[in-house]
Amino acid sequence: MYVEIRGVEYLSVTELARRAEMKAVWVQSGRRVRIAGDGRYIELEVDSREASVDGLRVFLGEPPRMYKRTLYLSKIDAERYVGPMVGEYGRSTPQPVKVVALDAGHGGRDTGKVNARMKLFEKTFTLDVVFRLKKLLEAQGFRVVLTRTEDKYIELPDRPAIAAKHGADLFVSVHFNSVEASPQRVTGIEVFTMTPQYQFSTDDYKREGTDQARQLNPGNVHDVWSSVAAFQLQRRLLADLKTSDRGIKHQRYAVLRLAECPAVLVEGGYLSNDAEAKKIASPAYRQDLAEGIASGIRAYASTVAQARRSK
Ligand SMILES: [Zn+2]
Repeated sequence: MYVEIRGVEYLSVTELARRAEMKAVWVQSGRRVRIAGDGRYIELEVDSREASVDGLRVFLGEPPRMYKRTLYLSKIDAERYVGPMVGEYGRSTPQPVKVVALDAGHGGRDTGKVNARMKLFEKTFTLDVVFRLKKLLEAQGFRVVLTRTEDKYIELPDRPAIAAKHGADLFVSVHFNSVEASPQRVTGIEVFTMTPQYQFSTDDYKREGTDQARQLNPGNVHDVWSSVAAFQLQRRLLADLKTSDRGIKHQRYAVLRLAECPAVLVEGGYLSNDAEAKKIASPAYRQDLAEGIASGIRAYASTVAQARRSK
């Protein structure tokens, strides 16, 4: 069922479509395939790491490849990443979502990203969003754990440890972004999950992190449900904030690497962009962001409940 292409295990899109009870068709002959069914779809492009699920940008671990006139998607991308986003969870059973851990990025001596012109610090806004989110989630019946409640630095490995100690079922780390090149052009939201074992992170185009790729990390146990959570969060955030879609990506961030439950890291906008920084500095935007994340968490929780019922 699987074929090996350039040392990577691949699955045909026909087989992925069959499993997900969808249909795979060429939308651009020899170039783009659409796997669709039940109002959901995955679009894949030959040799491109950028794909889309229901119109959301998703960065694959491996580019889809042509083999004997059929398109193939890497087994890991199919089974742990985009498959789960359209409801193909394999054999994994999710844990019901009762306790949510919220991690406000940075703190204390670590300011995070800075907009020096406007004197804005990432650490201030991450904490503010987490407080807003806690209120929203508690009103909806979730139990909430915060990794920090003041302007204090918490070591990175301690953050997932705090979540685990309180029995968190989902870990959400909140951050704001920055770019060096063309900062006034780049805006929007991106959501990260832990890079699966044997894959390279989204920004590692040169595939330099071979040793890291070989390693199995605690966070990888939850690849399937982290992908579902990232998808639900990005979908709700883009619908609510109507901002640009920077995509769902993989990175071996310490908080994701060490998480003992499904985990995502949300980058809620660019402080390096003056117009977006001004928005981030406004309580109204931060409330919208918190509401978007809360509604993504709710969507994730109901997806989990549904998957458990159908087991
Ligand atoms: Zn950050």
